Amino acid sequence: MFCTLVCCMDGRFIHILNEYIRNNYRYTFVDTITDAGAVNKIVSDENFLRSIEDKVVLISVNKHKSDHIFVAGHSDCAGCQTSDETQKKYICQAAQKMHTDLPHEAVTGLFVYENGEIEVLVDYDIDN
Ligand SMILES: [Zn+2]
Repeated sequence: MFCTLVCCMDGRFIHILNEYIRNNYRYTFVDTITDAGAVNKIVSDENFLRSIEDKVVLISVNKHKSDHIFVAGHSDCAGCQTSDETQKKYICQAAQKMHTDLPHEAVTGLFVYENGEIEVLVDYDIDN
């Protein structure tokens, strides 16, 4: 019923991501953890990654039984001023890190273009 979204705080994209996830996956509720350019911080700062994972595990996984984490970034990000290609690379790295640390969660990396189009970059299944 619950899944977890880790994404940028940018208000242009949060509702797009939320809608996309509810429409394309079987979840009703999307727990959302935001920060400016979140994927950039996950990749470059282990303390930030740990703080995100603590929130994911304490609330989404333990209390809400979330079994799927979505990690998302977007075009024209003020918190991660780089090309779309570099951002996509960060999203893939962030998804991989989170899947390594939380192997009982599926992890999907998403990228949103300015026109609202969403690209699935990477998909990790739950390791049993
Ligand atoms: Zn952003």
